[in-house]
Amino acid sequence: MTTETIVKAFKFRLRPNRSQRRMLAACLSDHCDLYNAALEERRTAWSASRVPVRYTQQSAQLKAIRHDDSGGQGRWSFSSQQATLRRLNRAFEAFFRRIRGGQEPGYPRFRSRHRFDSVTWPKDGDGCKWIDGDSASDGISRVRLQGVGTVRVHRHRSIEGIVKTITVKREGPKWFLVLACETDAPGEQPKTGRATGIDMGVTHFATTADGEHIANIAPLKTNEGRLARAQRDLARYPKNRKREDRSTRHWQAARKVAKLHRKIAAQRRDYAHKTANALIERFDVIAVEKLNITGMTKAPAPRPDPERPGVWLPNGANAKAGLNKRILDAAWGQFIDILTVKAAWAGREVIAVDPRNTSRTCTECGHCDPDNRDREDFHCTACGYNDHADRVGAVNIASRAGLVLDGDGRPSTSEAPQL
Ligand SMILES: [Zn+2]
Repeated sequence: MTTETIVKAFKFRLRPNRSQRRMLAACLSDHCDLYNAALEERRTAWSASRVPVRYTQQSAQLKAIRHDDSGGQGRWSFSSQQATLRRLNRAFEAFFRRIRGGQEPGYPRFRSRHRFDSVTWPKDGDGCKWIDGDSASDGISRVRLQGVGTVRVHRHRSIEGIVKTITVKREGPKWFLVLACETDAPGEQPKTGRATGIDMGVTHFATTADGEHIANIAPLKTNEGRLARAQRDLARYPKNRKREDRSTRHWQAARKVAKLHRKIAAQRRDYAHKTANALIERFDVIAVEKLNITGMTKAPAPRPDPERPGVWLPNGANAKAGLNKRILDAAWGQFIDILTVKAAWAGREVIAVDPRNTSRTCTECGHCDPDNRDREDFHCTACGYNDHADRVGAVNIASRAGLVLDGDGRPSTSEAPQL
């Protein structure tokens, strides 16, 4: 068996002193300037003569830019600057990909210094050095960054594998270090002989084909309430007010919103990991809904009533519609991504199927009717079958993935066709 390697990210708080803090900010803003200058060059060349500028051409100019030290660019690592140019290159590649795909292109934009929040050193030992506390005489972990100095790191857990890339991130007033480490993939897990489908819902985060509900995260609700209040608070201030004109209270309100967003994102990620682990432990094959990610940001269009001007017909916007739906879609998308990756490591399988009509089709007689479902209750209008609507969805998702149900209505891999 060949051992596969995977990349794991470890994120730690940085503890810079006052002067290091200043240098970290300067490092970000100089990399931001470099990014914008390189973007400017590409734009000008393109609009003047339709000549695309390539990464290699821009990278070749770095030496001269660093030598002419008037901008202070010579202070930083050559490699982190290259990484920044490559980041711009990726933005352009995505832009060209969107054009080819006939999507709205969205030309890469200039970045504000306030929004340019990370710099990556692509190779440990090249303009940066990770010093693990385990091998330090005082037990304190540090990172040496060219132009910044040796910064203390709060390494709250041990890292695994070999450090490949080092990234410094600013999140609000805090600084973080992200180490991308290469490590052996966890091996395959023993087979369980079981499979399931899962239905993603509003009341419950998900429901399995044997009718088990996976609850939504409770602490998230609290923070979402807090976020809604913080956003209302922030909305009292004019939106386009210049940064320098904002009052202290305005700043406080903005910071509070940003902080809650980060907190919620972290909780959601953590929950997705835990839920995915629990499912993978129990099932060999897991069928999920294929999420329509591109369509997901569009709310249903309002429909005017042709009979009565000024009156709008229901547009199919139900409990799942609107902003709530978008937030849930994003959470589910992230969950399915995490589940898929973890499943691959563990030798499990995730099958994504078209979820259309899965919660309105009878699992007993196959009758498909929107009236079969009334919120949580499924009641077949043809054969009278009763069940929880989410479980019906999960069973249909499982059978669409080719998983066969056993006597209890549980899909089982032993009876399933070869997948
Ligand atoms: Zn039926």
